[in-house]
Amino acid sequence: MTGRPYEVVIGIETHVELATRSKMFCGCNARWFGAPPNTLVCPVCLGLPGALPVPNRRAIELSIRAGLALHCEVPGHTKFDRKNYIYPDLPKGYQISQYDLPLNTGGWLEIPADGGGTKRVGIVRAHLEEDTGKLIHAGSHSLVDFNRSGVPLLEIVSAPDLSSVTEALAYAEALREILIHSGVSEFRLEEGAARFDTNVSIRFTEGGEVRWPPQSEIKNLNSLRALEQAVTFESQRLWEDWQAAGELRTRKAKITVGWSPETGRTFLQRRKEEAEDYRYFPEPDLVTYATARETVEAIRAALPEMPEARRARFTAEYGLSDYDARILVSEPPLAALFESAVREGGADAKAAANWIAGEVLRSLREKGLRSSEIPIRPLQLAGLVRLVTSREITTRVAKEVFAEMWASGADAAAIVEARGLRQVSDEGEIARVVDDVIATETKAVADYRGGNKRAIEALFGKVMGRMKGKGDPQVVRRLLAEKLGP
Ligand SMILES: [Zn+2]
Repeated sequence: MTGRPYEVVIGIETHVELATRSKMFCGCNARWFGAPPNTLVCPVCLGLPGALPVPNRRAIELSIRAGLALHCEVPGHTKFDRKNYIYPDLPKGYQISQYDLPLNTGGWLEIPADGGGTKRVGIVRAHLEEDTGKLIHAGSHSLVDFNRSGVPLLEIVSAPDLSSVTEALAYAEALREILIHSGVSEFRLEEGAARFDTNVSIRFTEGGEVRWPPQSEIKNLNSLRALEQAVTFESQRLWEDWQAAGELRTRKAKITVGWSPETGRTFLQRRKEEAEDYRYFPEPDLVTYATARETVEAIRAALPEMPEARRARFTAEYGLSDYDARILVSEPPLAALFESAVREGGADAKAAANWIAGEVLRSLREKGLRSSEIPIRPLQLAGLVRLVTSREITTRVAKEVFAEMWASGADAAAIVEARGLRQVSDEGEIARVVDDVIATETKAVADYRGGNKRAIEALFGKVMGRMKGKGDPQVVRRLLAEKLGP
């Protein structure tokens, strides 16, 4: 409730493209993003007359894998159905989907609950369908690109178990992690290859009666930020509409709304009364399937370690904080980089985690790269970490070395050798620089001796600067303090 006069009730339908090489019912390349329009098409995914679908076995296996990772039942029988509607991005005039016999039913996943502890969110079903093409609006006309048409799409329907925006975001994040870890989908929200349809309603007590008016379905949210903002806006809008005796008071069924990030508002798309009847019927070009138990059990046995288990292991086995474990496990390539650097490269675990959570993530952001595109190999990271933990280079120098490793692909030790960056711990050498700085920086020295102890930082910076960051910081500080006197 958190101070609001109403409770928010949220259910999320998540659409994710599966990580297959080819499309759902033809051999066309499924990696459509960035390809020139209408270059990844054939008679099947263009819906030309006489073309027949051939199901993608891999897509069915990945769907079952997703269901098992989400603790679903995999029923013994399943089939595909036609969902009929007319829209320019749907070449056949129908979408092959699953109606009453989905591949997966009745699962759950766990999220951090608002009130502390964890909460189980029900998964009603997860079914397999094909993605549509894409409309490109250009001024007064619209163009259509069918590259995305027929890409396998898994729709995962949650129960209306989410009670706040925070829980909705936690659910989206937990689902993303599970699907990425199990290799089912790359969950590429930014490419439109993963989208959320979100059902939002409000429940409250009025005059001693519980009111739960019909929900709004917010279509096609393509980022966590959009999910957060749209749900916040729509739940408050429903409440204000009810208070103002608006349409919600008389509405009988749910409405569908869109989200405009530009205006920060939802807008009406259609009322249920106008919504299409999809006239589902069994797809006549495909047979029904009996899912073999052995197949399901083989897929279950091959499930990789799930994010929750991996986080628990990272904290127990490597002594990482929950926070560090959460960052590393959020992206499998980060977790893999960490684990190999420690196990095979012998890097200190906490130090390796810090480098990944710090410089690695920062560099990825700066360069606009995915976590799968880190140019530094685990053994290289381990080499850098060892040079710092053995105090052969300073942290400041290590950051320079890291940047050069990232750019050139060279090993840390080779860069340190070539550029003469090894840390200087020799007291005589450091003492000469300290004496020189004390002799020339008269103002800072006078400040320090006059009682402003913080002036030592300026002197420390000068010494390190003259030594090009290579002076052993502990020795520099000690000698400065000794020579300046109390
Ligand atoms: Zn095709």
